[in-house]
Amino acid sequence: MQDFTGQKVVISGASRGIGKGISLAFLRQGATVIGVYGGNREAADKLQEECSEFGERLQLHQCDVSKASQVETFFQQVEEQFDTIDILINNAGIRRDKLLALMDMESWQQVLDINLTGTFTMSQKAVLLMLKQKYGRIINITSPVASMGFAGQTNYGASKAGQIGLTRSLCKETARKKITVNCISPGFIDTDLLDDLSDEQMKAYKKLVPMRRFGKIEEVAAAVLFLASKDAAYITGSVLDINGGL
Ligand code: NAP
Repeated sequence: MQDFTGQKVVISGASRGIGKGISLAFLRQGATVIGVYGGNREAADKLQEECSEFGERLQLHQCDVSKASQVETFFQQVEEQFDTIDILINNAGIRRDKLLALMDMESWQQVLDINLTGTFTMSQKAVLLMLKQKYGRIINITSPVASMGFAGQTNYGASKAGQIGLTRSLCKETARKKITVNCISPGFIDTDLLDDLSDEQMKAYKKLVPMRRFGKIEEVAAAVLFLASKDAAYITGSVLDINGGL
């Protein structure tokens, strides 16, 4: 495992699920984690409590990544306190599944605003800080739905494909400044995001996976830490699948 002592990591959606696992992994490897959550204060407080052993190396901020003004205020605070950051993980994401023919504009827009526009606004502010030190790692959490498609997920699939397009263009803008930009694409991972699936659906989806199981949060976090490490200096613009062969 890599040592991240002294590095500052901003993680969106840090309070639950995959983001929480990524936060814990970075904290265990010595990083300072500046986490962002949407509206669930209870989950954020719970994580802060669970992480008391890490003291001031974990901060959690309420910031809706779909609101540019909130992202701006958040990064102003980060810059005042830390000057720059080393790593950004764009992990905050939601699903609002509906067949396209029945999809209301709000379900379309909300998913695009949080999953894709949130990745844009967070990355824009982070790049400006990373440019100060000519070093950085940006990792966007996308999904296999971006390339495979899934009925009921035109909004989610478009937002996740958009993250890959953003990644591939941004990496070309920042390559010479030693800022790498990559995606991690987890398959089915057991988190609250899948809470609405019935037992039947869970069984059917597991059958789709050649390894016949869902992935673990820790398995995603380990890959994130590798791409965020100094060892991954020559990897940029890539999408790393973690999906049991899906
Ligand atoms: P999750 O358990 O539902 O957690 C989502 C996290 O995102 C929470 O911390 C939530 O904070 C935060 N969030 C939601 N809306 C936000 C907003 N507007 N601003 C800031 N934070 C916000 O989800 P997950 O399963 O860990 O998924 C994390 C990422 O992995 C997502 O991008 C998802 O698309 C992707 N992914 C997941 C799977 C899977 O099978 N689970 C598979 C592929 C990709 P609050 O609770 O405060 O709202």
